[in-house]
Amino acid sequence: SYPIDVEAIRADFPILDRLVGGDVETPGQGPDDDTPLCYLDNAATSHTPDRVVDTISEYYRGYNANVHRGIHQLSQEASVAYEEAHDTVADFVGAAGREEIVFTKNTTEAENLVAYAWGLAELGPEDSVVLSEMEHHASLVTWQQIGKRTGAEVRYIRVDDDGRLDMDHAAELIDDSTAMVSVVHVSNTLGTVNPVGELADMAHDHDALIFVDGAQSAPTRPVDVKAMDADFFAFSGHKMCGPTGIGALYGKESTLDEMQPYLYGGDMIRRVTYDDATWEDLPWKFEAGTPSIAQGIAFAAAIEYLEDIGMDAVQAHEELLAEYAYDRLTEFDDVEIYGPPGDDRGGLVAFNVDGVHAHDLSSIVNDYGVAIRAGDHCTQPLHDKLGVAASARASFYIYNTREEIDRLIDAVADARDLFA
Ligand code: PMP
Repeated sequence: SYPIDVEAIRADFPILDRLVGGDVETPGQGPDDDTPLCYLDNAATSHTPDRVVDTISEYYRGYNANVHRGIHQLSQEASVAYEEAHDTVADFVGAAGREEIVFTKNTTEAENLVAYAWGLAELGPEDSVVLSEMEHHASLVTWQQIGKRTGAEVRYIRVDDDGRLDMDHAAELIDDSTAMVSVVHVSNTLGTVNPVGELADMAHDHDALIFVDGAQSAPTRPVDVKAMDADFFAFSGHKMCGPTGIGALYGKESTLDEMQPYLYGGDMIRRVTYDDATWEDLPWKFEAGTPSIAQGIAFAAAIEYLEDIGMDAVQAHEELLAEYAYDRLTEFDDVEIYGPPGDDRGGLVAFNVDGVHAHDLSSIVNDYGVAIRAGDHCTQPLHDKLGVAASARASFYIYNTREEIDRLIDAVADARDLFA
């Protein structure tokens, strides 16, 4: 049994009934596909339930129009739905309201928005930005490069042998020079769940802001941005049953208010003359140009879908599968698993089989219909630290089962035999 009704959930995702194994020239199931899909690459992107796909199709079939500028009925309908989608997202993470939720393309764009709009204006050679050694490139490369442009020093909180942040080191690094702390909530490589509330307190004690990368946490557990006291929190729709091309940046209203826009153009202005311009209210000040309207509306539908399941139950399911996968992988004496123990992690497991390159492993298990990821998972410096170029990663979501993890284990066992 499971904390959620996995069978009912699976029925909402027709893609899970796909067969794979044929040629990949034509997307979608082909005549040569003969193996049931076992999709364990959810940390990269999750699937989209019918309700969300229908929302997109209803938009294009029923009320496709540009938002904000139109008086005509379709434009008003689209505007209402698009704006209300911000309210749904705001509620989901405990924000005060739509003024604190900027729709972005994804987590990466949210990181860049803050780094450019806030970082370039606020940072100088006297400042430091504190990251962790387990940051995704979305945060690591962004702040590293903004550091180079502004002269701000970039510091990295150490990851210990168990894959957890060394909080004593964090307390040393976060000091009066620190202007920004940017940390990942749930690591997409180690599965570590970081104490973001504690880090927020440390940052605020030194008048620094904290940016929390919620790309892996918002899809998989209840999030309350006010309780953790994040100044910024970012996440992507496509990892939580929504479409690609849409994500959100939460920012405290007072902070967003003080920031200059990141992109200029239509939709984000109030009054323009040849000499100057003034900005629209939050959050529109940060949403220049025609936004991803269908995707924004569908993002809200995805969130409603998850809320119907209940985020506590989603988290319990994730933890159950992570622990099961961890335990099953430890049956192999030549498998190294990265990150904290199975009973203390988010819903993913990255590992290596001794003597088998992660890419080979992932390609062999693909022959069994099992989709996992191989590579550095956008955490190259962390992989350098782990002493490996790549790892294999299985990541779980609401529709995954223990039987699918068993399929992964069988495929891994065969891959080991092949290379033995
Ligand atoms: N941060 C983390 C922790 C992630 O796992 C990802 C996605 N792999 C990102 C940021 C970037 O997300 P996106 O590609 O949707 O911008």
